[in-house]
Amino acid sequence: MKHKEYDIVVVGAGPGGSVISRHLAQLNYRVLLLEKRKEVGIPVRCGEASTSLKDMETFGPFDDDCIETVIDGLFVYGPGGTHLDVYKKNTGIMLNREKFDPCLARLAEKDGVELVLQAKCESISPVVSGYREIEVTSPLGKSKIKTKMLVGADGIESLVGRMVGLKSLQLHQHTCTGINFEVEGILTEANYLTFWQGQDFINDGYIWSFPKLKSNTTNFGAGYVIPKSKGKPIKEVTLEWLEKLFPGAKIKRITGGLIPVSGNLKDYVADRLILVGDAAHHTNPLTGGGISAAMKAGREGALVIHQAFQEQNFSKAFFKQYQDRCEKIFGKKHKSLLKFRRFLLGLPKNHQIEFYKVIKAFVENNYNYWALLKHPILTIKSVYRYYKSSH
Ligand SMILES: Cc1cc2nc3c(=O)[nH]c(=O)nc-3n(C[C@H](O)[C@H](O)[C@H](O)COP(=O)(O)OP(=O)(O)OC[C@H]3O[C@@H](n4cnc5c(N)ncnc54)[C@H](O)[C@@H]3O)c2cc1C
Repeated sequence: MKHKEYDIVVVGAGPGGSVISRHLAQLNYRVLLLEKRKEVGIPVRCGEASTSLKDMETFGPFDDDCIETVIDGLFVYGPGGTHLDVYKKNTGIMLNREKFDPCLARLAEKDGVELVLQAKCESISPVVSGYREIEVTSPLGKSKIKTKMLVGADGIESLVGRMVGLKSLQLHQHTCTGINFEVEGILTEANYLTFWQGQDFINDGYIWSFPKLKSNTTNFGAGYVIPKSKGKPIKEVTLEWLEKLFPGAKIKRITGGLIPVSGNLKDYVADRLILVGDAAHHTNPLTGGGISAAMKAGREGALVIHQAFQEQNFSKAFFKQYQDRCEKIFGKKHKSLLKFRRFLLGLPKNHQIEFYKVIKAFVENNYNYWALLKHPILTIKSVYRYYKSSH
C-alpha cells in the first residue's frame, strides 16, 4: 500500500469492486482496491452469461476477447416434453471472466485506482474521528489503513458486512449451490442459452448450457437451492445429466461455488460503509446471475459516495439512498422474480406442464396477451396458483 490513509478503500476486485473503484477514481478520490487472491478473477466460478452488450458496453471499453458470444435467445426444456424457444436478438452475452475481470480491474487502475493483490481485509474498526481503520494482511505482513469510506465488494462470503454488524450471513434456504463444467466444443445452439428446468430435470434450480464461441467451449452446469438438494451431491447429478444429454463430452475444467438468491439484503449500509454486489445479495434470485447487478450497484454506489463527500454526510441514514437506488434499478424486479421462483418450483409436475403451455403460447405469439385465450382454463388455473403462492 502506497499510503496509510485513503478516501475510499474497496474490498474485493470482482466486477462490483472494480466498477465502483474506477468510478470513484474518475471523480478524483484516492482509492485503494484490495483483492485477497493472487490474480483478479481466477479461479472463475461462474456460468459467464450476462446482460446485453449495449448494457455492458457502458462499463467498457473491453478487450475483444472478454466477450465470447452474443446471445440471441433462450431455449428452455421444461417438464413433460414441453419447451420454449424465446428469440430475442442481442438479449445477452457470454463473457470470458478470466479476461473480463482483469480487464475491469485494469480499467480501474488506468483511471488511478491503486490495486493490491494478495491483500486480505481482516478486521474493521468502528468509526473513530471520521475514519474507519482496517487491518490488512499481505505477503509483506500486517498493516493498518485509515479510510474515510469503506466498500465491501467481497462477494458471497462477505466478512466486511458481518464485521460491522450487518446481517449478511448466508442462510441455507436462500443459497444456491452451483457447479460449472467447461466442456470442449459447442454443445447446444451457438447463439442461444439453453436451460433444462422442472420436475423432469433439477426442480430446485436448473441445468444450463452456455456456448463460448471464441474459445470453442461450452459452460455446462447446474445450480439448486441447498436444503432441497437431498440425495446425491450436485457434482454427481450434473455429471449424470452431461453424460445423458451429451455422451462422451470432454470436460476441461470444473468449478463451483455458492450464489445468494434471497433478493437484496434488508440492510447493507452503515456509517461510512456500503456493500456492493453478491455481498449485498444483489444477485437475481431466479437465475442466480449477479455480474450485471454488481456492476450497476457499483456505479450507483460511486454516485452516492461522491454526494456524501460533497455534503460531508457519511451516516447510515444518508446511505439509505444507495439502497433505494438499487431497489429501483433491480431490487423490485428481484422481489417479483423471487416470488415467481417460489411459485414455479413449488408446482407439481402436471401443474408445471400446464404453466409451460400457457407461457409457450404467449411467447410464440409475440408476447400478445390474447394468445392466452388459446388455453383459457390453463391460464386461469396458472394465474390462480400464482396468486395463491404469493399471498
Ligand atoms: C457456479 C456459479 C455460476 C454462476 N453463473 C453466473 C452467470 O452465468 N451469470 C451471472 O451473471 N452470474 C453468475 N454467477 C454469479 C456471479 O459470479 C456473481 O454474482 C458475481 O461474480 C458477483 O460479483 P461481485 O463483484 O459482487 O463479487 P465476486 O465476483 O465474488 O468478487 C468478490 C471478490 O472479493 C474478494 N474478497 C473476498 N473477501 C475478501 C477480503 N476479505 N479481502 C480482500 N478481497 C476479498 C474475492 O477474492 C473476490 O475476488 C455464478 C456464480 C456461481 C458460483
